[in-house]
Amino acid sequence: MPSRAVVIGAGLAGMLAAAALSTAVDEVIVLERDDLPTGPEHRRGLPQGRHAHLLMAGGLTAMDDLLPGMDIRLRLLAKGAHEISFSSGMLARTPEGWLRRWRPEGPRMISCSRALVDWAVRDAVLGLGGEEVGRARVEVRRARAVELLGDAGRVRGVRVSTAARGREVDAEPGIEGDALHDHDHDHDHDSDADLDADLVVDASGRGSRILKWLTALGNSEVREKTVDAGLVNATRIYRTPAGAEGFPLTVVHADPYSGRPGRSGMMMPIEGDRWMVSLAGSRGGEPSADPDEFLRHALELPDPVVGRLISGAEPLTDIHVGRGTANVRHYVEKARDWPDGLVVLGDALATFNPTYGQGMSVAALGVQAFARELARGGPTAPGLSRRVQRAAARSVDAAWAVAVGQDVWYPGTRGGQPGTADRLVAAYSRRLTRTATGSYQAAAAVWDLSSLTTGPTRVLRPRTLLATLNGPLLPPLTEPPLTESERKILRSLDRTGRAG
Ligand SMILES: Cc1cc2nc3c(=O)[nH]c(=O)nc-3n(C[C@H](O)[C@H](O)[C@H](O)COP(=O)(O)OP(=O)(O)OC[C@H]3O[C@@H](n4cnc5c(N)ncnc54)[C@H](O)[C@@H]3O)c2cc1C
Repeated sequence: MPSRAVVIGAGLAGMLAAAALSTAVDEVIVLERDDLPTGPEHRRGLPQGRHAHLLMAGGLTAMDDLLPGMDIRLRLLAKGAHEISFSSGMLARTPEGWLRRWRPEGPRMISCSRALVDWAVRDAVLGLGGEEVGRARVEVRRARAVELLGDAGRVRGVRVSTAARGREVDAEPGIEGDALHDHDHDHDHDSDADLDADLVVDASGRGSRILKWLTALGNSEVREKTVDAGLVNATRIYRTPAGAEGFPLTVVHADPYSGRPGRSGMMMPIEGDRWMVSLAGSRGGEPSADPDEFLRHALELPDPVVGRLISGAEPLTDIHVGRGTANVRHYVEKARDWPDGLVVLGDALATFNPTYGQGMSVAALGVQAFARELARGGPTAPGLSRRVQRAAARSVDAAWAVAVGQDVWYPGTRGGQPGTADRLVAAYSRRLTRTATGSYQAAAAVWDLSSLTTGPTRVLRPRTLLATLNGPLLPPLTEPPLTESERKILRSLDRTGRAG
């Protein structure tokens, strides 16, 4: 009997999982409830795609490993994405002060729209298969998974509704207005069909119904944890002003430790000669969709640079406001019983406050762990699912520690309070960041951690520890580290009348 895998969701985790499966089974079917665009365009099933998405080096390397010969980096750059060096290509103001710019070396990140990342990966995965290369072709089917088939010991397939699209609804808390709505009673049962599978991957993202589906199979022991700082994002796209094409990615980070709501702002260059400007605020400090308020939020950050940049820039879109940014984790790897034939990856497994730019990379790293297990024992090896979940939990653990370790400090955060361990970690991480403002050693550790190229123990290496202990070697910068020509560009764009 030919073997078949079914993947729920054609987002990033789903398409990457399909690529991993294409070497291990005869047939890979990806179920997607949304209409997929043929090009790099925004789609309704991915509301977060309207907001800033930085692809970190750790995620990109995992993608390249999963898609051999496809060179995602080159595909993105060919379509106008920007490659940004952590060490030299950005202006970053941390709560401890401005990071310096050093030689262009070390990790890089990709700055482009989320739609472009998804399209590049989807296009590569769909072009990967064929008998001649010994891989199954990946088929994307427009259908919505509504239930798992099987029992508590083994998942044997998926019930799908081909009345694929959920009801479209107006905004509700946590979901942007253009999201697709997936209530169980919203579909027409006449159009349901059962799809058998040897292996099912839930990659249905933040809105996954995995706990509900598992309960229906008789497994209700997966623990869920939510830590929610109430972060709201507001994003607008601008035309890159003439002459400002080389202006660095600029970010003013929020301060989790001030006792006040965290506010931040970022300008990132994206394909098509555009700037994507995303402002964010935790509960009590939310940005607004009103253009004047939007500008004021940017100007009132601890440094007004983002506001000054956009004060004279031409907006190309309205301001989109998005919620649904909580850290949510399904402790699948800790469940006493876990069915064979079911793997949960990407946001369906864990989501993080997006400020830290980790979700896509953690999804890719989780799929990489899945691919390793598939290569080791094949798709039906006993205990495969459990081993995958344990391996995927390692990158989730690291990202969770970064995001939740900071989010618990914001006033009004729900679901978490700083404990003794958080205080120790916060004290060390603040000292490391302060040191990074004036020490290459410490700055390099911060870039490695942020780019997900190394695990959290990177910050405890002897040279980093020593540097952190000694503190910054150079005095703090009082202004963003701009070159003379960048300073001129900023002055020419600034309509706020501020000097500098
Ligand atoms: C505002 C914001 C900004 C972010 N910024 C960054 C960033 O800078 N860097 C970063 O790395 N990450 C970022 N993230 C996180 C990133 O968006 C996610 O981690 C990433 O999308 C996870 O991919 P996924 O494939 O698991 O889920 P998704 O990309 O959400 O894909 C899930 C797919 O499943 C489909 N689907 C859902 N239910 C069903 C069903 N029942 N049947 C069939 N199909 C279904 C959906 O339509 C969708 O296509 C950000 C998130 C937010 C909210």
